[in-house]
Amino acid sequence: MRYKVIKIFRSFFFPERCPYCYKRIEYNKIACDECHSQFPETYSMNYAKGGYQCCSPFFYQGIFAEGIKRMKFHQLTQSSEKFAVVLEDCVRKAYNVDEIDLITFVPMHDKDYADRGYNQAQLLAKDLARRLKIPCKKTLIKHKRTEPQHKCISSVERRDNIKGAYKVIEKQKPNIKGKTILVVDDIMTTGYTMGECCKTLEKCSNSRIICATVCAKNDIYT
Ligand SMILES: [Zn+2]
Repeated sequence: MRYKVIKIFRSFFFPERCPYCYKRIEYNKIACDECHSQFPETYSMNYAKGGYQCCSPFFYQGIFAEGIKRMKFHQLTQSSEKFAVVLEDCVRKAYNVDEIDLITFVPMHDKDYADRGYNQAQLLAKDLARRLKIPCKKTLIKHKRTEPQHKCISSVERRDNIKGAYKVIEKQKPNIKGKTILVVDDIMTTGYTMGECCKTLEKCSNSRIICATVCAKNDIYT
């Protein structure tokens, strides 16, 4: 209730925008009618490297790719709440949410975080966790700075670029043992980044790791 009041209050000063086309929308809508009509009827289930399940409501194309880019590069962080509504629906269809103990996210390197000022994966994870009433924790750090995955041409380059880039936060180690953990990111492109995060968590915790992203690239395995 309190949250809803804050949202209405906020919309007086910062009009709500459609995350996909940037048109003004009412505060309680998650997209304009035109963009909403383009939402796919079903989600897709893909696999991060290592075979970890990853559900996504959208493919990375058209208005959905635009929406992700806006959130990532144009500071449209309020989109996260709207994406989280769609992500929640997808996660509820793809998994048994009662089995999920913890939600976490793909971290950024400290230097990249300082440049952008926020981590879109963290915003999504927090908003999703609030909706699902599941705790959300930062469990991983990115200690190796990497090239953006799309700049790596070959599959081997992509694998080597991200290998060993993540570590489990020391004080979180006891909290993640033997759980079911959902890892959130904005987009899965090559599946190497998500796979590396999952593997790092799994090795350290012996947990079951599943994933969710807003978008999945439709040529993920090429
Ligand atoms: Zn729109």
